[in-house]
Amino acid sequence: MPTEVKALAAPDSSAQFSRTEITRRDPGPDEVLIDIKYAGICHSDIHTARGEWGPTLYPLVPGHEIAGVISQVGTNVRKHQVGDRVGVGCFVDSCGQCAPCLAGEENYCADHTVWTYNDRGRDGEPTRGGYSQAITVRENYVLRIPDSIPLDRAAPLLCAGITPYSPLVRHGAGPGKHVAIIGMGGLGHMGVQLAHALGAEVSVLSRSLAKREDGLALGADNYYAASDPATAGRLAGAFDLIVSTVSADMDVDAYVNLLALNGTLVFVGLPPDRQSFSIMPLCSGRRSIAGSNIGGIRATQEMLDLCAEKGIAAKVEVITADDVTATYDRVVAGAVRYRAVIDISTL
Ligand code: NAP
Ligand code: ZN
Repeated sequence: MPTEVKALAAPDSSAQFSRTEITRRDPGPDEVLIDIKYAGICHSDIHTARGEWGPTLYPLVPGHEIAGVISQVGTNVRKHQVGDRVGVGCFVDSCGQCAPCLAGEENYCADHTVWTYNDRGRDGEPTRGGYSQAITVRENYVLRIPDSIPLDRAAPLLCAGITPYSPLVRHGAGPGKHVAIIGMGGLGHMGVQLAHALGAEVSVLSRSLAKREDGLALGADNYYAASDPATAGRLAGAFDLIVSTVSADMDVDAYVNLLALNGTLVFVGLPPDRQSFSIMPLCSGRRSIAGSNIGGIRATQEMLDLCAEKGIAAKVEVITADDVTATYDRVVAGAVRYRAVIDISTL
């Protein structure tokens, strides 16, 4: 029997959430049913719910930072058992056969990465995310959450953790490397902790020094106000790698100038509008501009295990289901430190 569960849905781009009921299918042979305990609020939920990235499938049930406990398993499930603490991130399916999928990069599936919400699954039905009491997912797309990480602090790792982790590893963050993270928000505060855990020297480039104490406590070696005109001169050519988590329009050239010879500026933040940059400073310093989108299942598990080993996790504000609409405005205003997480028992 399919399960009827409570969920929070946005009816349109006003993103005023209200309670609704949705249906979750019975787990197929290779699927599990997860009892969701916490769901993080990613800025991508906000861009999508408000229709900022293009057409959205309403009613929308967002949520791709999901932590919970398995309540049912299909007959062929081998990796997980009832009672396991697990997570689900930004995608719930992919073809499994293309070159990216075979390389463990299901997030770049050549056929179709099925996103956790605002997409259609292989059955043609709209996908609905973690602002709900349960979700049915193929076992290969489900992560193990290490016992030492509380579920509320683990949920954001499924997106805000893997998203900075992936370019940090790919672009060689480690001992002797100078890494800067732009934006001390959900992704940014995880980027700081992960870059530090990987052994890099870490700087934060924030709009102000308001969050400096927290940044240093999370492992940053330096913390700068990007708005301070002195910062640009002082840090010219300083960084091997800069990861931008900024969600709004930005002065790309100002950050390119902070790159060392051969340095790379990687965007993970996804401002809705086009951004522009000058080619000259790229050529003159053999610098690169790059992008990155979350990470594959293997890398996500590696990141979760690293967090457990290093004793790191997201810093969260646990909120109720009634708080979600207002919390969206608080995220956009930069007032949440550093990730709002919905307690699903309040649905
Ligand atoms: P967030 O918690 O709101 O953090 C974004 C940070 O960017 C803010 O804390 C702020 O840092 C900075 N910022 C915001 N507005 C700014 C402005 N007008 N000018 C300069 N800096 C500004 O958001 P998030 O959840 O970390 O997500 C960040 C972005 O990444 C969003 O666009 C989201 O959609 C995207 N994202 C991408 C991926 C991917 O795979 N590529 C995955 C997840 C999210 P300070 O206060 O320190 O300045
Ligand atoms: Zn996200």
